[in-house]
Amino acid sequence: MEVKTHIAVVSVPVYSHLRSILEFSKRLVHLHHDIHVTCINPTFGSPCNNTKALFDSLPLTINQMFLPPVNLEDLPHDTHPAIQVQVTISRSLPLIYDALKALHATSSLVAVISDGLITQVLPFGKELNVLSYSYFPSTAMLLSLCLYSAMLDKAISCEYRDLVEPIEIPGCIPIHGTDLPDPLQNRSGAAYKQFLEGNERFYLADGILVNNFLEMEEGIIRALQEEQEKGTIPCVYAVGPFVQEEPCREGSSNDIKYMRWLDKQQCNSVLYVSFGSGGTLSHEQIKELAWGLELSGQKFLWVLRPPNKFGIIADIGARNEDPSEFLPDGFVKRTEGHGLVVPYWASQVEILGHGAIGGFLSHCGWNSTLEGVVHGIPLIAWPLFAEQKMNAVLLSDDLKVALRVRVSENGIVEREEISRIIRKLMVGEEGKEIIQRMKVLKDAAVDAIKDEGSSTVTLTQLALMWKSLSLECTV
Ligand code: UDP
Repeated sequence: MEVKTHIAVVSVPVYSHLRSILEFSKRLVHLHHDIHVTCINPTFGSPCNNTKALFDSLPLTINQMFLPPVNLEDLPHDTHPAIQVQVTISRSLPLIYDALKALHATSSLVAVISDGLITQVLPFGKELNVLSYSYFPSTAMLLSLCLYSAMLDKAISCEYRDLVEPIEIPGCIPIHGTDLPDPLQNRSGAAYKQFLEGNERFYLADGILVNNFLEMEEGIIRALQEEQEKGTIPCVYAVGPFVQEEPCREGSSNDIKYMRWLDKQQCNSVLYVSFGSGGTLSHEQIKELAWGLELSGQKFLWVLRPPNKFGIIADIGARNEDPSEFLPDGFVKRTEGHGLVVPYWASQVEILGHGAIGGFLSHCGWNSTLEGVVHGIPLIAWPLFAEQKMNAVLLSDDLKVALRVRVSENGIVEREEISRIIRKLMVGEEGKEIIQRMKVLKDAAVDAIKDEGSSTVTLTQLALMWKSLSLECTV
C-alpha cells in the first residue's frame, strides 16, 4: 500500500510571500511524488488577478484550502495593508487551527510548515503532535537578526539608527542601524514589539526553511549551524532558491508588447527597472528617475506605477490612472525607441529571462533578487522598505553583485546619481566585474537545485525524515 505523506503549508496574504511558499510547495511535490501538500490560505477580500494566477499555476497534487475571508470592515478605511495583513492573520488563527485538526484527523499529517510572518501557528504543531516548521522567504542574514533580536534588544539601549558603529551579527557583514528593517527603526513602536514577539516564537520551531542556498550566504549559514549544534537555536535549512520558472501573466496582448520590443534590442543592452509588487515612488522621485534614465543614455524597460500606491498584496487597484502622466513633459516622446514604460505590472521572470536584459534596477525584494540571481543579471540596489536595505547590504557590500544608489540628504536619489550608477553598471569597468561575480553566483544557484545540489540534498533529507514518520504512523 502506498502511504502518502501529508504536509500542511500555511501561507499569508502577501503576494511575494505567497509566491515564494507556493514555489517551495511545488518543488517539494515535484521532487517527492509521494508527498501530498495542502496549502491553507487565510484571506481578506477577494484575490486580485495576480494572486489568482499564482493559484492557477499549481499542480493538482497540491490541495488548496481558502479560509473564509476575514471581515475587516471595523478597521478605518485607510488602514495600511501591512496592518490589514496582521489583523487577517490574527483573526484567522482559530480557523487555521481547526483546518489543521481536521487534516490531522483524516490524513497522515506529519508536519506543518507556516510562513515566517505567521509564527503564531508554530505552537499548533506541538498541540497536534506533528512537526512544526517555519518557512522563511528571505535571507539567512535576516533570520540571524530575528534570532538574535532579543539579545540585541538587551545589549543596546539607544535607537539602532543612532549607533555610530555597525551591528555585528555572527557570520554577517557588519550592518548600520539605518539599514535594519523598518520595525527596528522605532523601538517604541508597536511594530518593534510585534517583531520581537514573533521572533521569540521561532524558537518553538522544529526547523526553519530558508529561501536561499548555502553558497550565497555560506558564512551566515555556517554560523547558524554552529549555534544549532549547541542547541541554542532551531535547525536552519537552506533549501532555495525558489523562483517562479513559468511566466505568470494576465495575458492581454498589450502585456506582451514589451517582450516584442525586447526582441528587437541587442543582447545585454537593456536595464530593467522595477520596484516589486508593492513598491512605488513619490511623484518627485519618479520624475528624477525619468531624468536619470534619460541622462544615462542607456536603454531601459521601466514598470511604472502612479506615485505612492502601496500594495503588498499586488492588487494595484482599478488601473484607472495613466502612470505616464507623472513623467516629465515630453519624456515618452524623447525616449521613444530607446526606452519603454510599462504601466503597473509586467511578467518579471519572463523579462529577466530575455537575453536583451543586461541590468536590473531593483528594490531588492527577496523574490526579485533571487530572480535576478538565477538569470545572472547584475543589479542596481535601490531599497525602499521592509528588509530591503539589509538585502542591499548583502548584495552590494558582501557579495558585490550590485551597486547601491546613494540617497541624498533630502531623501531623493538625484538624476546625476541615477545616471552615474546606470552607466557604471551597464558600460563601466566595475560593471564588468559585477557581471563576472553574478555569473559565478548564478551558476551556484543553478547547481544548488540540481539533483545533487546543496539545497536539493537538504530538502530531500527532510522529506525522507517526514516520509519515515508517516510510515511509523501507519504501523
Ligand atoms: N512582480 C512581477 N511583476 C511586476 C512586479 C513584481 O512579476 O510588475 C513579481 C516579481 O517577479 C517577484 C514579486 O512580484 O516575484 C515581488 O516580490 P519581491 O519579494 O521581489 O518584492 P515585494 O513585492 O515583496 O516588495
